[in-house]
Amino acid sequence: MAEFDVDLFVIGAGSGGVRAARIAAGYGAKVLVAEEFRVGGTCVIRGCVPKKLYVYASRFADSFADAEGFGWELPQKPVFNWSKLVAGKEKEISRLSEIYRANLARANVEIIDSRATVEGPHHVRLADGRRISAKYILVATGGSPVLSPTIPGLEHAISSNEIFDVPTFPKSMLIVGGGYIAVEFASVFTRLGSAVTLVLRGDNVLRGFDDDMRDAVRDELTHAGVTLGFGVLPTSIEKTADGLKVTLSNGETKLFDQVLLATGRRPHTTGLGLEAAGVMLDDVGAVKVDAYSQTNIPSIYAVGDVTNRVNLTPVAIREGHAFADTVFGGKHTAVVHTDIPTAVFTTPEIGTVGLSESEARKIFDIVDIYSSTFRPMMATLSGRAEKTRMKIVVDGTTDKVLGVHIFGHDAGEMAQLLGISMKLHATKADFDATMAVHPTASEELVTMRTRTARHIQSPD
Ligand code: NDP
Repeated sequence: MAEFDVDLFVIGAGSGGVRAARIAAGYGAKVLVAEEFRVGGTCVIRGCVPKKLYVYASRFADSFADAEGFGWELPQKPVFNWSKLVAGKEKEISRLSEIYRANLARANVEIIDSRATVEGPHHVRLADGRRISAKYILVATGGSPVLSPTIPGLEHAISSNEIFDVPTFPKSMLIVGGGYIAVEFASVFTRLGSAVTLVLRGDNVLRGFDDDMRDAVRDELTHAGVTLGFGVLPTSIEKTADGLKVTLSNGETKLFDQVLLATGRRPHTTGLGLEAAGVMLDDVGAVKVDAYSQTNIPSIYAVGDVTNRVNLTPVAIREGHAFADTVFGGKHTAVVHTDIPTAVFTTPEIGTVGLSESEARKIFDIVDIYSSTFRPMMATLSGRAEKTRMKIVVDGTTDKVLGVHIFGHDAGEMAQLLGISMKLHATKADFDATMAVHPTASEELVTMRTRTARHIQSPD
């Protein structure tokens, strides 16, 4: 008789859990995955994938407006149909969820549609009461939206979990927060035709990003019609016959069809039984792990947002893969959490990799900045008042590129490739030696010859 029912029990069939399960099964492990919601996790079901579909939908508004400059005459004003978009999105994420399921089945991974809780280093309890023993347990439960600030009427607000499927298109909405989710939805909904107000507690959007990129997003949101309020938060929400009456901390009272709270996400560990099993959590409830995603209990590992390292899908996937390689493949693999390319899908979007200018200045003695702001070619005939911004942050001592930041169309696509250059430790001279592709926006990255600033750290 085998000592355990399975070699690996994965809790959560999101990006990290699914990858770990498939790779482990590929190494011959007997694997079971439990999922209480829908296979695919946040990214596929109510995150990156539906978000990007809505971003595409929203960008038609700009294309329709720009078309005239290129000779097109639209016979009538295009009309947007929210229900059609929601239905199309639902069809696509269901298709993807089924593909995830099929891939797991093909890899001989068993899926149980149930909540699972940890009962000890080697035991998991399913919702129907069954107790399963596992040599290893992988916690890949992701995160869930934080609804804050805690104010009267909070129950009338929604999170990114609900926004994709609201039955009626919100003609007006208040978005609270200044992170990825807040700015992306502000950019989407203003283009789809909603009157969007975005309020946040700080003095600019996207804390942690390069300051020039933050300013660019702020300016473009304003230009796209979003009303921005800095240092402003809602203090109460009241449901009335005319909509949601929101009182703001600046004293204003306004009516909105929807209030979307995008004030961060927290690791999904509540009620999972982890504390009872002796697994250490940090002060925000994230599972504490080492570089191999192992917790303080040797048989329990955790990957993805539940560990609150870098909360991005590709990172969770990489962590899941590395876990399976380490535990079942005999290849000790730690995930490197630096120089991770990422994008913020506003319109235009941010694509970024490496250190921001201000981060670099805290670490390096001499920091050189190469930057460029220009009108994209597409905006010439369209007449759109829009600027692309690019910035290369360079170590002035070694010439090594420390970070690249782009605000412009397809910046996310550029960031992906810049990520390779960063992995190869490219220098500014390498960028300069690269031939341009003309006419493109990204050619600017290899033709920025003039330094725009040099920062020398003054000795204290
Ligand atoms: P973020 O952590 O990016 O932003 C949270 C925002 O809410 C910040 O502006 C923060 O302000 C504010 N906030 C936090 N707590 C409070 C509070 N108590 N009261 C008022 N404001 C508050 O979270 P998001 O929800 O936008 O996104 C969650 C995660 O999802 C991100 O970290 C990201 O990793 C991932 N994501 C990635 C995307 C992508 O790759 N394109 C897209 C969407 C999400 P302050 O800055 O002052 O702390």
